[in-house]
Amino acid sequence: MRFIADMMLGRLARWMRLYGYDTLYGIEDDDEIIRVALAEERTILTRDSGLANRARKLGAKVLLLGSNSLEGQVGELRAMGIEFNELFPANARCPKCNGPLRRTSKERVKGKVPKSVYEKYDEFYVCEKCGQIYWPGWQWREMLKIDKKLRGEK
Ligand SMILES: [Zn+2]
Repeated sequence: MRFIADMMLGRLARWMRLYGYDTLYGIEDDDEIIRVALAEERTILTRDSGLANRARKLGAKVLLLGSNSLEGQVGELRAMGIEFNELFPANARCPKCNGPLRRTSKERVKGKVPKSVYEKYDEFYVCEKCGQIYWPGWQWREMLKIDKKLRGEK
């Protein structure tokens, strides 16, 4: 399932990507969101009932959310049957650009990450689209904590 998120749902969009969902974000114009959703068979994620109604009339799939919070929004999506499986690295996409991530070797990231990171970690992933490099450092551990919360694990 592929998505397109409206401008109010930036945080959710980044998390959808981390959970492996191909999610477009950054289109401001509602008509353009609907056009892209129809052309690419993407489901629109929005909190705007006006946009939701217009899109549905034109035949687009919409998931209308009510919550302000990331946790609430993920809860709503789970109730609608969207699965949130364990995070990273298996199927995650780049939270920055939606590109696919792939495992890369330590040698290949030499000079591209801080020296202390290079020395400390052996596991690296690179975004095939924007080149961003990821590793299981503190930022990642913080994300795993949020992931557990989002999926209702203690
Ligand atoms: Zn990227």
